[in-house]
Amino acid sequence: MSIVSNTLKRIKPSPTIAVTSKAREMRAAGRDVIGLGAGEPDFDTPDNIKEAAIEAIKKGDTKYTAVDGTPALKKAIQAKFQRENNLSYDLEQISVGTGGKQVLYNVFMATINKSDEVIIPAPYWVSYPDIILLAGGKPKIIKCEENENFKLTPKKLEKAISKKTKWIILNSPSNPTGSAYTKKEIEDLAEVLKKYKKVYILSDDIYEHITYDNFKFFTIAQIPYLKDRTLTMNGVSKSYSMTGWRIGYAAGPKEIIKAMAKIQSQSTSNPTSISQAAAVEALNGAQGFIKERADSFKQRRNFVVESLNSIKGINCLKPEGAFYVFPNCKKLIGKKTIIKDDTNFAEKLLEKSEVAVVPGSAFGLQGHFRISYATSMENLEKAISRIKKFCESL
Ligand code: PLP
Repeated sequence: MSIVSNTLKRIKPSPTIAVTSKAREMRAAGRDVIGLGAGEPDFDTPDNIKEAAIEAIKKGDTKYTAVDGTPALKKAIQAKFQRENNLSYDLEQISVGTGGKQVLYNVFMATINKSDEVIIPAPYWVSYPDIILLAGGKPKIIKCEENENFKLTPKKLEKAISKKTKWIILNSPSNPTGSAYTKKEIEDLAEVLKKYKKVYILSDDIYEHITYDNFKFFTIAQIPYLKDRTLTMNGVSKSYSMTGWRIGYAAGPKEIIKAMAKIQSQSTSNPTSISQAAAVEALNGAQGFIKERADSFKQRRNFVVESLNSIKGINCLKPEGAFYVFPNCKKLIGKKTIIKDDTNFAEKLLEKSEVAVVPGSAFGLQGHFRISYATSMENLEKAISRIKKFCESL
Protein backbone atom coordinates (compact mmCIF):
# COMPACT_ATOMS: atom_id res chain seq x y z
CA MET A 1 0.00 0.00 0.00
CA SER A 2 1.35 3.38 -0.95
CA ILE A 3 1.62 6.09 1.69
CA VAL A 4 0.29 8.72 -0.73
CA SER A 5 -3.36 9.70 -0.49
CA ASN A 6 -6.09 8.88 -2.97
CA THR A 7 -6.49 12.62 -3.53
CA LEU A 8 -2.91 12.88 -4.69
CA LYS A 9 -3.37 9.97 -7.08
CA ARG A 10 -5.98 12.03 -8.94
CA ILE A 11 -3.45 14.62 -10.07
CA LYS A 12 -0.24 14.72 -12.06
CA PRO A 13 2.85 16.90 -11.67
CA SER A 14 3.03 19.98 -13.89
CA PRO A 15 4.25 18.87 -17.35
CA THR A 16 5.78 22.27 -18.05
CA ILE A 17 7.92 22.02 -14.94
CA ALA A 18 8.84 18.46 -16.01
CA VAL A 19 10.17 19.65 -19.40
CA THR A 20 12.11 22.47 -17.76
CA SER A 21 13.70 20.01 -15.29
CA LYS A 22 14.67 17.56 -18.05
CA ALA A 23 16.29 20.41 -20.00
CA ARG A 24 18.13 21.50 -16.84
CA GLU A 25 19.42 17.95 -16.29
CA MET A 26 20.67 17.73 -19.87
CA ARG A 27 22.39 21.10 -19.50
CA ALA A 28 24.05 19.94 -16.28
CA ALA A 29 25.36 16.95 -18.24
CA GLY A 30 27.07 19.40 -20.60
CA ARG A 31 24.53 19.54 -23.44
CA ASP A 32 23.70 22.79 -25.19
CA VAL A 33 19.93 22.79 -24.61
CA ILE A 34 17.76 25.78 -25.56
CA GLY A 35 14.77 25.98 -23.27
CA LEU A 36 11.54 27.24 -24.80
CA GLY A 37 9.48 25.62 -22.09
CA ALA A 38 9.40 28.10 -19.23
CA GLY A 39 6.47 30.46 -18.78
CA GLU A 40 8.26 33.49 -17.41
CA PRO A 41 9.56 36.75 -18.84
CA ASP A 42 13.34 36.83 -19.31
CA PHE A 43 13.40 40.49 -18.17
CA ASP A 44 14.49 41.43 -14.67
CA THR A 45 12.17 42.95 -12.07
CA PRO A 46 12.42 46.77 -12.45
CA ASP A 47 14.71 48.57 -9.97
CA ASN A 48 12.01 50.73 -8.34
CA ILE A 49 10.21 47.53 -7.33
CA LYS A 50 13.37 45.96 -5.93
CA GLU A 51 14.10 49.17 -4.02
CA ALA A 52 10.63 49.10 -2.45
CA ALA A 53 11.34 45.58 -1.18
CA ILE A 54 14.71 46.62 0.26
CA GLU A 55 13.04 49.59 1.92
CA ALA A 56 10.38 47.28 3.42
CA ILE A 57 13.10 45.10 4.94
CA LYS A 58 14.89 48.13 6.39
CA LYS A 59 11.65 49.53 7.81
CA GLY A 60 10.91 46.24 9.55
CA ASP A 61 7.97 45.18 7.38
CA THR A 62 9.09 41.67 8.13
CA LYS A 63 6.25 40.35 10.25
CA TYR A 64 2.92 38.62 9.66
CA THR A 65 0.41 40.75 7.78
CA ALA A 66 -3.35 40.41 7.38
CA VAL A 67 -3.95 36.94 5.93
CA ASP A 68 -5.21 37.96 2.50
CA GLY A 69 -3.15 41.09 1.96
CA THR A 70 -2.02 44.35 3.54
CA PRO A 71 -4.42 47.32 3.33
CA ALA A 72 -1.79 49.14 1.24
CA LEU A 73 -1.67 46.36 -1.35
CA LYS A 74 -5.44 45.95 -1.42
CA LYS A 75 -5.76 49.69 -2.06
CA ALA A 76 -3.22 49.47 -4.90
CA ILE A 77 -5.19 46.58 -6.41
CA GLN A 78 -8.46 48.47 -5.99
CA ALA A 79 -6.91 51.45 -7.82
CA LYS A 80 -5.57 49.17 -10.57
CA PHE A 81 -9.02 47.73 -11.30
CA GLN A 82 -10.52 51.22 -11.37
CA ARG A 83 -7.77 52.73 -13.54
CA GLU A 84 -7.26 49.94 -16.04
CA ASN A 85 -10.57 48.07 -16.15
CA ASN A 86 -13.08 50.66 -14.98
CA LEU A 87 -14.17 48.25 -12.24
CA SER A 88 -15.00 49.35 -8.66
CA TYR A 89 -14.45 46.99 -5.76
CA ASP A 90 -14.54 47.40 -1.97
CA LEU A 91 -11.42 46.30 -0.15
CA GLU A 92 -13.40 43.32 1.23
CA GLN A 93 -13.84 42.16 -2.35
CA ILE A 94 -10.08 41.78 -2.85
CA SER A 95 -7.81 38.88 -1.89
CA VAL A 96 -4.04 38.53 -2.20
CA GLY A 97 -2.26 35.17 -2.31
CA THR A 98 1.15 33.64 -2.89
CA GLY A 99 0.99 33.82 -6.68
CA GLY A 100 -1.98 33.52 -8.99
CA LYS A 101 -1.71 29.78 -8.50
CA GLN A 102 -2.55 29.94 -4.80
CA VAL A 103 -5.42 32.32 -5.51
CA LEU A 104 -6.92 29.79 -7.93
CA TYR A 105 -6.36 26.98 -5.47
CA ASN A 106 -8.15 28.98 -2.77
CA VAL A 107 -11.09 29.78 -5.06
CA PHE A 108 -11.77 26.19 -5.98
CA MET A 109 -11.06 24.70 -2.54
CA ALA A 110 -13.45 27.27 -1.10
CA THR A 111 -16.33 26.72 -3.52
CA ILE A 112 -16.32 23.25 -5.05
CA ASN A 113 -18.46 20.42 -3.74
CA LYS A 114 -18.01 16.82 -4.85
CA SER A 115 -18.99 16.36 -8.51
CA ASP A 116 -19.41 20.07 -9.24
CA GLU A 117 -18.34 20.69 -12.82
CA VAL A 118 -15.93 23.34 -14.01
CA ILE A 119 -15.88 24.14 -17.72
CA ILE A 120 -12.33 24.52 -19.00
CA PRO A 121 -11.78 25.47 -22.65
CA ALA A 122 -8.79 23.58 -24.10
CA PRO A 123 -6.00 24.27 -24.79
CA TYR A 124 -5.81 25.29 -21.12
CA TRP A 125 -3.16 26.28 -18.62
CA VAL A 126 -1.89 22.98 -17.20
CA SER A 127 -2.83 23.60 -13.57
CA TYR A 128 -6.59 24.23 -13.99
CA PRO A 129 -7.78 20.61 -14.27
CA ASP A 130 -5.51 19.40 -11.49
CA ILE A 131 -6.55 22.13 -9.06
CA ILE A 132 -10.20 21.26 -9.77
CA LEU A 133 -9.47 17.56 -9.21
CA LEU A 134 -7.67 18.30 -5.95
CA ALA A 135 -10.72 20.25 -4.82
CA GLY A 136 -12.94 17.23 -5.59
CA GLY A 137 -14.60 18.72 -8.68
CA LYS A 138 -14.90 17.53 -12.27
CA PRO A 139 -13.09 19.38 -15.04
CA LYS A 140 -15.27 19.51 -18.16
CA ILE A 141 -12.82 20.03 -20.98
CA ILE A 142 -14.14 21.68 -24.14
CA LYS A 143 -11.75 21.48 -27.07
CA CYS A 144 -11.30 24.68 -29.07
CA GLU A 145 -9.48 23.99 -32.30
CA GLU A 146 -7.03 25.95 -34.41
CA ASN A 147 -9.77 26.92 -36.90
CA GLU A 148 -11.58 28.63 -33.98
CA ASN A 149 -8.39 30.46 -33.02
CA PHE A 150 -8.41 28.19 -29.96
CA LYS A 151 -11.32 30.20 -28.50
CA LEU A 152 -14.56 29.04 -26.96
CA THR A 153 -17.63 29.80 -29.07
CA PRO A 154 -21.05 30.67 -27.58
CA LYS A 155 -22.46 27.49 -29.12
CA LYS A 156 -19.89 25.23 -27.49
CA LEU A 157 -20.32 27.05 -24.19
CA GLU A 158 -24.07 26.58 -24.20
CA LYS A 159 -23.68 22.89 -25.01
CA ALA A 160 -21.16 22.42 -22.17
CA ILE A 161 -23.32 23.92 -19.41
CA SER A 162 -25.21 21.41 -17.28
CA LYS A 163 -27.07 21.45 -13.97
CA LYS A 164 -23.79 20.60 -12.29
CA THR A 165 -21.79 23.49 -13.77
CA LYS A 166 -20.42 25.66 -11.00
CA TRP A 167 -17.70 27.61 -12.78
CA ILE A 168 -16.34 28.37 -16.19
CA ILE A 169 -12.71 29.42 -16.55
CA LEU A 170 -11.74 32.01 -19.14
CA ASN A 171 -8.08 32.86 -19.73
CA SER A 172 -7.32 35.73 -22.08
CA PRO A 173 -4.66 36.20 -23.37
CA SER A 174 -4.17 32.50 -23.06
CA ASN A 175 -1.43 30.24 -21.93
CA PRO A 176 -0.61 28.17 -24.08
CA THR A 177 -1.95 29.74 -27.30
CA GLY A 178 -1.64 33.51 -26.82
CA SER A 179 -5.19 33.90 -28.18
CA ALA A 180 -7.21 36.69 -26.61
CA TYR A 181 -10.97 37.36 -26.70
CA THR A 182 -12.16 40.64 -28.20
CA LYS A 183 -14.86 42.67 -26.44
CA LYS A 184 -17.40 41.38 -28.94
CA GLU A 185 -16.39 37.75 -28.38
CA ILE A 186 -16.74 38.20 -24.62
CA GLU A 187 -20.11 39.89 -25.06
CA ASP A 188 -21.30 36.92 -27.10
CA LEU A 189 -20.22 34.46 -24.40
CA ALA A 190 -21.85 36.72 -21.80
CA GLU A 191 -25.18 36.50 -23.65
CA VAL A 192 -25.14 32.75 -23.06
CA LEU A 193 -24.04 33.05 -19.43
CA LYS A 194 -26.82 35.59 -18.77
CA LYS A 195 -29.32 32.73 -18.85
CA TYR A 196 -27.46 30.45 -16.44
CA LYS A 197 -27.54 32.45 -13.25
CA LYS A 198 -25.95 29.79 -11.06
CA VAL A 199 -22.76 29.58 -13.12
CA TYR A 200 -19.78 31.57 -11.81
CA ILE A 201 -17.00 32.87 -14.01
CA LEU A 202 -13.31 32.77 -13.20
CA SER A 203 -11.41 35.17 -15.42
CA ASP A 204 -7.65 34.61 -15.41
CA ASP A 205 -6.22 37.93 -16.63
CA ILE A 206 -2.59 37.32 -15.74
CA TYR A 207 -1.39 38.18 -19.29
CA GLU A 208 -3.53 41.35 -19.50
CA HIS A 209 -0.61 43.65 -20.23
CA ILE A 210 1.10 41.51 -22.83
CA THR A 211 -0.90 42.20 -25.99
CA TYR A 212 0.07 43.36 -29.48
CA ASP A 213 -1.05 45.33 -32.54
CA ASN A 214 -3.36 47.66 -30.57
CA PHE A 215 -5.42 44.79 -29.24
CA LYS A 216 -7.91 46.21 -26.71
CA PHE A 217 -8.03 44.09 -23.58
CA PHE A 218 -11.52 43.50 -22.19
CA THR A 219 -12.46 41.41 -19.18
CA ILE A 220 -15.80 39.72 -18.52
CA ALA A 221 -16.40 41.44 -15.15
CA GLN A 222 -16.91 44.60 -17.24
CA ILE A 223 -20.23 43.13 -18.37
CA PRO A 224 -22.46 44.70 -15.67
CA TYR A 225 -24.90 41.80 -15.31
CA LEU A 226 -22.04 39.30 -14.78
CA LYS A 227 -19.89 41.29 -12.35
CA ASP A 228 -21.61 39.82 -9.28
CA ARG A 229 -20.70 36.30 -10.28
CA THR A 230 -17.27 36.87 -11.73
CA LEU A 231 -14.03 36.44 -9.89
CA THR A 232 -11.17 38.17 -11.70
CA MET A 233 -7.71 36.80 -11.03
CA ASN A 234 -4.54 38.66 -11.88
CA GLY A 235 -1.03 39.06 -10.51
CA VAL A 236 2.34 40.72 -10.83
CA SER A 237 4.25 37.65 -12.08
CA LYS A 238 4.08 38.24 -15.82
CA SER A 239 3.39 41.98 -16.27
CA TYR A 240 6.10 43.08 -13.85
CA SER A 241 8.57 40.19 -14.32
CA MET A 242 8.02 39.12 -10.72
CA THR A 243 7.47 35.36 -11.01
CA GLY A 244 9.73 34.62 -8.04
CA TRP A 245 8.09 37.12 -5.71
CA ARG A 246 4.86 35.10 -5.61
CA ILE A 247 2.06 37.66 -5.52
CA GLY A 248 -1.32 37.07 -7.18
CA TYR A 249 -4.71 38.56 -6.43
CA ALA A 250 -8.41 38.36 -7.15
CA ALA A 251 -11.47 40.58 -6.93
CA GLY A 252 -15.08 39.47 -6.81
CA PRO A 253 -18.02 38.52 -4.60
CA LYS A 254 -17.39 39.11 -0.89
CA GLU A 255 -18.64 35.68 0.11
CA ILE A 256 -16.03 33.95 -2.05
CA ILE A 257 -13.23 36.32 -1.00
CA LYS A 258 -14.00 35.62 2.66
CA ALA A 259 -14.04 31.86 2.09
CA MET A 260 -10.71 32.09 0.26
CA ALA A 261 -9.14 33.87 3.24
CA LYS A 262 -10.34 31.08 5.50
CA ILE A 263 -8.51 28.48 3.37
CA GLN A 264 -5.38 30.62 3.23
CA SER A 265 -5.46 31.20 7.01
CA GLN A 266 -5.13 27.46 7.50
CA SER A 267 -2.44 26.91 4.87
CA THR A 268 0.17 29.60 4.20
CA SER A 269 -1.27 32.65 6.02
CA ASN A 270 -0.18 35.91 4.42
CA PRO A 271 1.95 36.16 1.29
CA THR A 272 5.49 37.39 2.08
CA SER A 273 5.34 40.85 3.63
CA ILE A 274 8.31 42.05 1.56
CA SER A 275 6.83 40.85 -1.72
CA GLN A 276 3.59 42.62 -0.86
CA ALA A 277 5.48 45.90 -0.39
CA ALA A 278 7.17 45.33 -3.76
CA ALA A 279 3.79 44.64 -5.40
CA VAL A 280 2.43 47.95 -4.06
CA GLU A 281 5.24 49.74 -5.89
CA ALA A 282 4.68 47.63 -9.01
CA LEU A 283 1.00 48.63 -9.19
CA ASN A 284 1.35 52.25 -8.05
CA GLY A 285 4.72 53.09 -9.64
CA ALA A 286 5.70 53.96 -13.22
CA GLN A 287 4.09 51.65 -15.80
CA GLY A 288 5.99 52.73 -18.93
CA PHE A 289 8.33 49.73 -19.07
CA ILE A 290 5.37 47.36 -19.57
CA LYS A 291 4.71 48.71 -23.05
CA GLU A 292 8.42 48.70 -23.92
CA ARG A 293 8.70 45.05 -22.91
CA ALA A 294 5.54 44.14 -24.81
CA ASP A 295 7.09 45.76 -27.92
CA SER A 296 10.12 43.59 -27.50
CA PHE A 297 7.93 40.48 -27.12
CA LYS A 298 6.09 41.53 -30.26
CA GLN A 299 9.27 41.50 -32.35
CA ARG A 300 10.03 38.02 -31.10
CA ARG A 301 6.48 36.84 -31.78
CA ASN A 302 6.68 38.13 -35.34
CA PHE A 303 10.00 36.41 -35.91
CA VAL A 304 8.87 33.10 -34.39
CA VAL A 305 5.53 32.96 -36.21
CA GLU A 306 7.05 33.86 -39.56
CA SER A 307 9.92 31.40 -39.30
CA LEU A 308 7.75 28.55 -38.04
CA ASN A 309 5.37 29.02 -40.95
CA SER A 310 8.29 28.70 -43.35
CA ILE A 311 8.93 25.16 -42.07
CA LYS A 312 7.23 22.43 -44.11
CA GLY A 313 4.66 20.58 -42.00
CA ILE A 314 4.24 23.31 -39.37
CA ASN A 315 1.40 25.81 -39.19
CA CYS A 316 1.40 28.59 -36.62
CA LEU A 317 -1.32 31.15 -35.86
CA LYS A 318 -0.28 34.69 -34.98
CA PRO A 319 -1.63 35.29 -31.46
CA GLU A 320 -2.85 38.54 -29.94
CA GLY A 321 -0.95 38.28 -26.68
CA ALA A 322 1.05 36.48 -23.97
CA PHE A 323 4.49 35.13 -24.93
CA TYR A 324 3.51 31.77 -26.36
CA VAL A 325 2.74 30.27 -29.74
CA PHE A 326 1.01 26.94 -30.23
CA PRO A 327 2.04 25.59 -33.64
CA ASN A 328 0.34 22.65 -35.30
CA CYS A 329 2.68 19.73 -36.11
CA LYS A 330 0.04 17.19 -37.18
CA LYS A 331 1.52 16.82 -40.67
CA LEU A 332 4.76 15.58 -39.14
CA ILE A 333 3.05 12.88 -37.11
CA GLY A 334 2.02 9.43 -38.30
CA LYS A 335 2.84 6.78 -40.82
CA LYS A 336 5.19 8.78 -42.99
CA THR A 337 7.50 9.81 -40.15
CA ILE A 338 8.99 8.22 -37.04
CA ILE A 339 6.94 10.57 -34.83
CA LYS A 340 4.03 8.90 -33.04
CA ASP A 341 2.36 11.89 -31.41
CA ASP A 342 3.08 15.37 -30.08
CA THR A 343 4.72 14.07 -26.89
CA ASN A 344 7.05 11.97 -29.00
CA PHE A 345 7.72 15.04 -31.20
CA ALA A 346 8.79 17.07 -28.13
CA GLU A 347 10.89 14.20 -26.74
CA LYS A 348 12.74 13.63 -30.01
CA LEU A 349 13.23 17.36 -30.55
CA LEU A 350 14.86 17.58 -27.13
CA GLU A 351 17.00 14.45 -27.51
CA LYS A 352 18.15 15.00 -31.08
CA SER A 353 18.14 18.77 -31.51
CA GLU A 354 18.38 19.99 -27.93
CA VAL A 355 15.36 22.29 -28.00
CA ALA A 356 12.87 22.04 -25.12
CA VAL A 357 9.18 22.66 -25.97
CA VAL A 358 6.01 21.37 -24.29
CA PRO A 359 3.69 18.98 -26.16
CA GLY A 360 0.14 20.17 -26.86
CA SER A 361 -1.43 17.20 -25.11
CA ALA A 362 -0.15 18.62 -21.79
CA PHE A 363 -2.59 21.48 -22.47
CA GLY A 364 -5.46 19.26 -23.58
CA LEU A 365 -5.04 19.58 -27.37
CA GLN A 366 -2.98 17.06 -29.29
CA GLY A 367 -1.03 17.61 -32.46
CA HIS A 368 0.53 20.87 -31.32
CA PHE A 369 3.41 22.08 -29.20
CA ARG A 370 3.96 25.21 -27.14
CA ILE A 371 6.88 27.54 -27.57
CA SER A 372 7.54 30.22 -25.01
CA TYR A 373 9.40 33.04 -26.78
CA ALA A 374 10.29 34.81 -23.53
CA THR A 375 13.97 34.36 -24.29
CA SER A 376 16.63 36.29 -26.25
CA MET A 377 16.40 36.74 -30.04
CA GLU A 378 19.75 34.97 -30.27
CA ASN A 379 18.32 31.90 -28.53
CA LEU A 380 15.18 32.05 -30.66
CA GLU A 381 17.17 32.22 -33.89
CA LYS A 382 19.26 29.23 -32.87
CA ALA A 383 16.23 27.28 -31.67
CA ILE A 384 14.20 27.90 -34.82
CA SER A 385 17.03 26.82 -37.06
CA ARG A 386 17.35 23.59 -35.04
CA ILE A 387 13.58 22.99 -35.20
CA LYS A 388 13.70 23.52 -38.96
CA LYS A 389 16.52 21.00 -39.41
CA PHE A 390 14.74 18.55 -37.12
CA CYS A 391 11.45 18.78 -39.01
CA GLU A 392 13.20 18.44 -42.37
CA SER A 393 14.94 15.29 -41.14
CA LEU A 394 11.65 13.51 -40.41
N1 PLP B 1 -2.56 31.61 -14.89
C1 PLP B 1 -1.88 31.37 -16.02
C2 PLP B 1 -2.64 31.29 -17.30
C3 PLP B 1 -0.49 31.18 -15.99
O1 PLP B 1 0.17 30.95 -17.13
C4 PLP B 1 0.18 31.25 -14.75
C5 PLP B 1 1.63 31.00 -14.68
O2 PLP B 1 2.24 30.39 -15.51
C6 PLP B 1 -0.57 31.53 -13.60
C7 PLP B 1 -1.94 31.70 -13.71
C8 PLP B 1 0.05 31.60 -12.22
O3 PLP B 1 0.97 32.56 -12.07
P1 PLP B 1 1.71 32.82 -10.71
O4 PLP B 1 1.31 31.76 -9.73
O5 PLP B 1 3.16 32.79 -11.03
O6 PLP B 1 1.25 34.18 -10.27
